[in-house]
Amino acid sequence: MNKFEEVLDDFSDYEIAVFSQYKLKEYTSSTQTKIMEYIKTNRKLDESKIEKLVAEKPAIKEYDDSIYCPRCFSKKLLRMRVKWIPPVFRVGYEDEMATWKELTTGEATYKDKVECFVCGYKLYDPNNEKRTFLEKILDILFDTPLNI
Ligand SMILES: [Zn+2]
Repeated sequence: MNKFEEVLDDFSDYEIAVFSQYKLKEYTSSTQTKIMEYIKTNRKLDESKIEKLVAEKPAIKEYDDSIYCPRCFSKKLLRMRVKWIPPVFRVGYEDEMATWKELTTGEATYKDKVECFVCGYKLYDPNNEKRTFLEKILDILFDTPLNI
């Protein structure tokens, strides 16, 4: 079995539908063809079923406090280390420390970026200053560094 099939087997039908609408176009055309084939053959989903699934967003379970994507409600979130580019027009201790560190040691500051694997929504991007309220909460939640 191909690796992408193992990953997609873990997706719900709804997640597959969202993935095909938002993320599929990011892949090369040969990969897109393989994924489309998988969706049709293994998951028995066609264009109209996909549209229906995306339109009928599943209800968010109340009192479920785990972190999910605000766009598609998936909990399949990717956390990546990205180089943090300190904003030019913002003065703050953290920014100055990052710039100072890069200037003196040549080492960049890395922060975690959190992205939805299913639809590509960026829940937290350290290089994007326009953050929503939810993203600000995630700032706090993800303040613990990764063990890498
Ligand atoms: Zn999503």
